[in-house]
Amino acid sequence: MKDHFERVIDYMRISITDRCNLRCRYCMPADGFTNIIPREQILSFEEITRLAEAAAKLGIHKIRLTGGEPLVRHGIVDLISRIHAVEGIHEIGITTNGILLADMADDLKKAGVSRVNISIDTLDPEKYASITRGGKLDKVLAGIEAAKRVGLTPVKLNVVALGGFNEDEFGDFIEMTRNEDIIVRFIELMPIGHADLGDSYGFISNKEILSRFPELVPVENEKYSVSDDFQLPGGKGKVGFISALSNHFCSSCNKIRLTSDGKIKPCLHSNDEIDMKGPLTLSDDELLEALRASVNRKVEHHLLNEGAAPIERDMNKIGG
Ligand code: SAM
Ligand code: SF4
Repeated sequence: MKDHFERVIDYMRISITDRCNLRCRYCMPADGFTNIIPREQILSFEEITRLAEAAAKLGIHKIRLTGGEPLVRHGIVDLISRIHAVEGIHEIGITTNGILLADMADDLKKAGVSRVNISIDTLDPEKYASITRGGKLDKVLAGIEAAKRVGLTPVKLNVVALGGFNEDEFGDFIEMTRNEDIIVRFIELMPIGHADLGDSYGFISNKEILSRFPELVPVENEKYSVSDDFQLPGGKGKVGFISALSNHFCSSCNKIRLTSDGKIKPCLHSNDEIDMKGPLTLSDDELLEALRASVNRKVEHHLLNEGAAPIERDMNKIGG
């Protein structure tokens, strides 16, 4: 499926829940339950699978499950098996905070997941508990080890760059890529939703990080990659920079997003949403038409740097 700007759209991110077992300061309000999506509005597995089938018919080959925290949704392994069985879906990934991964990695792999992105902003247990409002770092580290052991590889680590909070650890994260085929990706902090965006940390651009590590050499980016990739000389892994604000990657955007309450978001940084109005109530043709319409509503590039309206949905209700 192509959009109006000749971009091939072959990737759908599905947020399967807005619930989470952490409360990262930049993502969710402290009381994550104040404006939670009512359970009856959350898409069922039947609805998600039907949407995946329709999307596959239109050329979506790759699916990533996210959230909230996808691993807290009961029955996720069953959901993955269903999506894996959809003709045309060639790759299923998960973005997770890793807290529950150690116990689930094996089942996820067997059900059809090929790779995982694990979010980890600090390697210090106290700082981790502070930024996530109570998370246990050792669980994430065990999750990373389990992902490697069962072959959910190459593991990607997502690190939100937080000025004044984890700046002193950027070098440690980069060092992890020297002897291991691991991909560390620095993500610029994005102004989304109602989270705390800066009382205890500030925006730091990827350009600034790169300037501090001149030894990093550029390498070819993956096709449709959202990151600019680099490597330590002789390093086994890679270091990526996801610069949604300072150097957006809209011209190579190949995705649409499905929220857990059944809205298609053509662009992460826009409030535009297309309500799928209960995918089981639509005919096959209506469903395909609705998906096509959402791809046609993709904008050429986001306007965050040009004063666009702030994004209303919290990040845990969109899925990063
Ligand atoms: N719970 C899972 C996790 O943390 O990986 C999946 C959902 S989370 C919303 C997906 C990604 O979005 C995470 O890597 C997280 O760090 C990132 N994220 C959340 N809020 C953000 C913000 N305001 N700016 C930049 N990245 C953000
Ligand atoms: Fe939960 Fe992920 Fe948001 Fe953290 S970033 S609160 S783990 S959804």
